[in-house]
Amino acid sequence: MNYRISHRAASLSPSLTLAIDAKAKQMKADGLDVVGFGAGEPDFDTPQHIKDAAARALADGFTKYTPSSGIPELRQAIADKFKRENGLGYKPSQIIVSCGGKHSCYNVILATCQEGDEVIIPAPYWLSYPEMVKLAGAKPIILQTTDKTEFKVTPDQLRSAITPRTRLLILNSPSNPTGSVYSPEEIKAIGNVCVEAGVLIMSDEIYEHLLYDGAEHKSVASFSQAHYDHTIVVHGFAKAWSMTGWRLGFLAAPEPVARAIDAVQSHSTSNPTSFAQKGAVAALTGPQDHLHRWLAEYDKRRTYAWKKLNSIPGVSCVNSKGAFYLFPNISKTGLKSADFCEKLLEGEKVAAVPGIAFGADDYIRLSYATSMANIEKGLDRLEKFIRTLSK
Ligand SMILES: *Cc1c(COP(=O)(O)O)cnc(C)c1O
Repeated sequence: MNYRISHRAASLSPSLTLAIDAKAKQMKADGLDVVGFGAGEPDFDTPQHIKDAAARALADGFTKYTPSSGIPELRQAIADKFKRENGLGYKPSQIIVSCGGKHSCYNVILATCQEGDEVIIPAPYWLSYPEMVKLAGAKPIILQTTDKTEFKVTPDQLRSAITPRTRLLILNSPSNPTGSVYSPEEIKAIGNVCVEAGVLIMSDEIYEHLLYDGAEHKSVASFSQAHYDHTIVVHGFAKAWSMTGWRLGFLAAPEPVARAIDAVQSHSTSNPTSFAQKGAVAALTGPQDHLHRWLAEYDKRRTYAWKKLNSIPGVSCVNSKGAFYLFPNISKTGLKSADFCEKLLEGEKVAAVPGIAFGADDYIRLSYATSMANIEKGLDRLEKFIRTLSK
């Protein structure tokens, strides 16, 4: 039997993050004391009132198919959120609820990109973007950035990468994996370049609420009608409400794009989980005070970890302004990131994600969505590891 794998599937790289995670979990299961910095999810529980709303929906028998783009109540609550927090006017028909922010991204790319199209992705990037672009038959064009510019692309850099084939720019601010945040002026200038060139923007704003040091988030869609017309905003419940396992994301798009995405979704997953959507309504309409507590905690860990990292010889780290990641530069150790992370895990039992997974081999990603005790222990071990390397 010839199990010919489709060229689309065969073109994908398996997730390095998941491989490291699997190895760390196996080591833990074997009784080893592993410190994990790999987590891409909050270490806090989903707020109780959100769980209660979903449990009530389940008990009330809200267990059947819903409209494929989500229940009207939730789409209205999302439209209200965009108005209230971002100054963006969307009709509920422009809002699509999907099975996770990742699914929202995939739907956007599948509905707007095809063979012959180029999609510009600034690196370091969230590792799924280029693979999704390849699945759509389009070509990822990677724009390299470094810690010298806080991992941000400049308008000139973007302009010189645009060709007649460019269809889409993928923006992610605050960023996974770097934690960097574009200022409103910077994001407007990036948007201007896209508007002038007629390039669409997929703006992944899932970390918009996780900001530090007075950093400000402004959606690229909010600067003018033209910016709005060129932008699809992607968001989700995973990060600010700690609902990663609920699989609920959403997006807001110009009407024709929203209609196309609705069609794609109606033939793939149908609707997002019915009772989970009731929990999401509670997430948007209920109290948000959990966020202040979480942010205060993240901020403490971030400050400690950033200082500690920069005190280690051979390591330098730009401070993160958003999300819950630090992205230290380890190039002075002379090791490539995958080799570095493998040796770190085997030698000191610390799990980190190699930067190569995000298109940046001089770095590693550390998540501070883990306890302060873990961060202290893990960074002490990282320091010991690096000191042994230089001997
Ligand atoms: C976590 C994350 C998402 C969405 O994750 P879901 O669990 O699918 O909601 C989207 N983009 C980025 C950059 C993320 O880190």
